[in-house]
Amino acid sequence: MSVQTATLDFEIMPTSTPTPEADRLKAFENLGFGTLFTDHMAVIKWNVDKGWHSAQVTARTPFQIDPASSVLHYAQEIFEGMKAYRTADGRAVLFRPEENARRFNESAHRMAMPELPEGDFIAAVEKLVQLDARWIPEGDSSLYLRPFMFASEVFLGVRKATDFIFCVIASPVGPYFKGGMKPVTIWVSQNYTRAAVGGTGAAKCGGNYASSLAAQAEAAAQGCDQVVFLDAVEHRWVEELGGMNVFFVMDDNTLVTPPVAGTILPGITRKSLIELARDNGLTVEERPYSYDDWKADAASGKLKEAFACGTAAVVAGIGTVKHQGGEFKIGDGQTGPVTTKLRSALVDIQRCSAPDTHGWVH
Ligand code: PMP
Repeated sequence: MSVQTATLDFEIMPTSTPTPEADRLKAFENLGFGTLFTDHMAVIKWNVDKGWHSAQVTARTPFQIDPASSVLHYAQEIFEGMKAYRTADGRAVLFRPEENARRFNESAHRMAMPELPEGDFIAAVEKLVQLDARWIPEGDSSLYLRPFMFASEVFLGVRKATDFIFCVIASPVGPYFKGGMKPVTIWVSQNYTRAAVGGTGAAKCGGNYASSLAAQAEAAAQGCDQVVFLDAVEHRWVEELGGMNVFFVMDDNTLVTPPVAGTILPGITRKSLIELARDNGLTVEERPYSYDDWKADAASGKLKEAFACGTAAVVAGIGTVKHQGGEFKIGDGQTGPVTTKLRSALVDIQRCSAPDTHGWVH
């Protein structure tokens, strides 16, 4: 894929107070998700007159935000999620970063924000990873990267802002789900929906996540790991989880996944797994799948496995589905062989322990 070239020169200013190595190693003993951060951040500013300017990689430090900054009122904010991996031979690699750069700009377009040339997005991520390379954990852990952008203009009028800040921070992470590789239990939200056609469902904007939290809290109260949303019009079609796409493995070696049609996030893991599944001789159908069919197919045995996928959680088997008035298991409630095989195929490429036949590793 061709990538828009980088336009910016970054000023690199390493911190004068790096985390002592002993403290970093101690923190690495028990990695969770999103609680530990590296020493630096990349920042680029945008202004309606100057465009993108002042690109820096600098000490990670709080922003000074005016109480009237428009992001605090109207949530003009977008983000991405990607990872740097440590390979067995000690290199640091990214997985398909140009896809994140492209999706970031699609989100920017939807939220009336300035687009950042893809080359500059990737350069910001690369330069941060280079400076904080010692923070990339080995083994199954990785360095989660969070590029984001918000409206920093001090103004209470409702219109697109004139000033924005783009930033990348990094967080060493272990498994996303507390249960590690155990299959997850998900809650079908019948009270809340996530997105409608013409809305922001396909954009990675903070507001989508704010509005998912009540449903996620309902899921947690039911003892579930994640919520799955149905479509907003008929409350009939399966869409996606709060932060992951979903796949169904049928008894005839077919994978079914809801189509990317404006209401779900076009996941990069989803897109990669579709290709890997086809490489492995599976048929993939991107088509609407109803919640009624899901229940019926689980009961009849036509549905063998289901899994959720995303950068943070990678591939997680779905064991049990709960809903108002009951629950059902998928297969024997364990992570199935197709899920396991696809997960390994993806992880092996990400970690460079299998040939990168698609040219995904950066
Ligand atoms: N859906 C939603 C709502 C998400 O937040 C994510 C995570 N970015 C995904 C799906 C999976 O996307 P990806 O595979 O690109 O991480």
